[in-house]
Amino acid sequence: VNGRGRGQARLFSTSRMCRTVMPAWVIDKYGSNDVLRFTKNASFPIIDFPNEVIVKVFAAGLNPLDVSMRGGYGAATLSMKRDPVNIKRSGSEFPLILGRDVSGVIMECGLDVKYFRERDEVWAAIPPWKQGSLAEFVVLSANEVSHKPKSLNHTQAAAIPYVATTAWSALVNTGGLSKDNCANKRILILGGSGGVGTFAIQMLKAWGAHVTVTCSQNAEQFVKGLGADHVVDYTSGPVEEPLSALEKFDLILDNVGGDTERWALNLLKPWSGAKYVTLVTPFLQNTDMLGIADGMMQSAATMATKALKHLIKGVHYRWGFYAPSGPALDEIREMVDAGQIQAVVDETFNFSQVPQAFEKVEKGHARGKTVVQIS
Ligand code: NDP
Repeated sequence: VNGRGRGQARLFSTSRMCRTVMPAWVIDKYGSNDVLRFTKNASFPIIDFPNEVIVKVFAAGLNPLDVSMRGGYGAATLSMKRDPVNIKRSGSEFPLILGRDVSGVIMECGLDVKYFRERDEVWAAIPPWKQGSLAEFVVLSANEVSHKPKSLNHTQAAAIPYVATTAWSALVNTGGLSKDNCANKRILILGGSGGVGTFAIQMLKAWGAHVTVTCSQNAEQFVKGLGADHVVDYTSGPVEEPLSALEKFDLILDNVGGDTERWALNLLKPWSGAKYVTLVTPFLQNTDMLGIADGMMQSAATMATKALKHLIKGVHYRWGFYAPSGPALDEIREMVDAGQIQAVVDETFNFSQVPQAFEKVEKGHARGKTVVQIS
């Protein structure tokens, strides 16, 4: 912990935490699971801005992104976000703490924070350019944080924020859906049994949409239990064939990627404003491979070419991205506490079992979310 940072914390915060270190799982370089290292001496987070809060972590959710980031995925773009003027030496992100979901309790508030108080129970999806939740404490902007649903315990709450803010951003901000315009809309979710899919099914059903889902045969009852109206098994042959026999869709959320783009846009109602939103994009890969400027240009060119190609056929092609949002989590909390959305926890691990939790996520075949109990 550097002295200047600690000084700023005193200027900006409402209380004085005197700890300088905390337990955390960190990585010191990118690689496979053996780069994960437990330490009792990770730097204690510092409030650098008056709108920040320090959260004591009770539970942390893992996502496929954590496994990818462990291997270096997105490093170029995320380093630029952390250090936009590029004054730090390469590798300054280490020791890096992974973990994108947090449920916990506010321990300290910056002086401008009005919406939260110490000891408030909160949840949040932590942006990937910030230190993550596989630690005793994490610092976040207050606008990324939301009060946790009262009906969920911390383990359950940590299963929702990252997939929920991603689904919200893709379906609401990019897809144009809302609770007021979903009735009678036909939505197709490609990949319904994982983290994003299990959340999206429930949100769309709560809003009155008709939801068709693709998943493995052994997940059929599971996704139906979450509200899916129609389920298509993708393991029993080319999935586009049974899907083509169905009435066309108003929106497709693609959690699978790969060759789905080849056929999925043909399943949309043409000339009706129908959209295909994919979460599997080459955006970070392009900047990793080509550098920031060329990578962004490549992404813009790819996106524009594909959007135009499909626009002339009367359907919209879009990329969807996670976006941090406390206000979106506030709305999702209302739905959770109203019983419209449940947390779908696939497996839980103790803080000592973080490498096993990563192995579980890396194996795939998720049925909801993997959560680590921190304290
Ligand atoms: P999960 O690993 O939780 O879920 C993926 C699910 O898809 C699994 O249940 C898997 O089960 C199923 N699946 C695999 N292949 C197919 C297939 N061909 N058809 C249908 N289902 C399939 O991932 P998430 O839900 O968390 O994320 C989904 C995708 O979205 C990931 O690629 C992730 O990287 C991406 N993502 C992108 C974000 C962004 O900002 N752009 C943000 C968040 C996620 P099974 O193998 O048993 O069938």
